[in-house]
Amino acid sequence: LVAVTKQAPIDFVQGLYDLGVRRMAENRPQQLWEKAAALPSDVRWHMVGRFQTNKIARTLPAVALVHSVDRRSLAEALSAEAARAGIEVRCLLQVNVTGEETKGGFAPDEVAEVLAWAAALPGLRVDGLMTMARYEDEAEACRPTFQALRRLRDSAANRNGVGDLPILSMGMSNDFEPAVEEGATHVRIGSALFEGVGPSPSST
Ligand SMILES: *Cc1c(COP(=O)(O)O)cnc(C)c1O
Repeated sequence: LVAVTKQAPIDFVQGLYDLGVRRMAENRPQQLWEKAAALPSDVRWHMVGRFQTNKIARTLPAVALVHSVDRRSLAEALSAEAARAGIEVRCLLQVNVTGEETKGGFAPDEVAEVLAWAAALPGLRVDGLMTMARYEDEAEACRPTFQALRRLRDSAANRNGVGDLPILSMGMSNDFEPAVEEGATHVRIGSALFEGVGPSPSST
C-alpha cells in the first residue's frame, strides 16, 4: 500500500502512520517536502506526479522511489543528480497504456527501447513500470490496462541490459482490485483512505 496523501491534513496522515503505514506518496514536490518534514523519518516517501527537473535536487534526498518517469529528459536529469550527489535513484517508467492525451508517460511500443536506454544511465535504477488506468465506473473495465502493463514488463525484463523489473505500480482507489489480481506490487491509494477528511484529495 502506498498512501497518496495529497491534501490530506497532517494529523490524519499521522493517524495512518500510527496504524503502521510507512509508504506514502505525493504528486507535488512541495507537498512532499512539507509532509516529509512533519512525519517521522522512517516513512518511505514516493513521488507519483509530474516531476519538474528544477525540483529534483531538493526532492531526491527525501524520496525512496520515483513512480513517474514519463520522459527521457527526466531520466537524464535524475541520472545527472544521482551522479552529482553520489546516490542511486530508484524509479519506475510511467506508461500511458490507454493513450489518453491528458496523461503523461511513454507509449507502450516505446517502453522496451526506453528501458534498454535507461539501463545504461549511471545512478539510475529502473525497478519496474507504473500506469494509471482510464477512469471507469466499473473497475473490471480497467483490467485490460493492467494486463497490458504486466505483459510489457514480462517481455522487457532481463533483456538488453534491463533488470528484473519486479515492481508493477498500478491500481488506485477506484480500480485496485483487478490491479492486484493482475500482479500489482504497489497500489497507490488516496481518496479511499482520506474520504471525508479535509479538502478532497481528488481536487487536483
Ligand atoms: C492522486 C493519485 C493517486 C491516488 O488516487 P485515488 O483515486 O485518490 O486513490 C494515485 N496515483 C497518482 C499518480 C495520483 O496522482
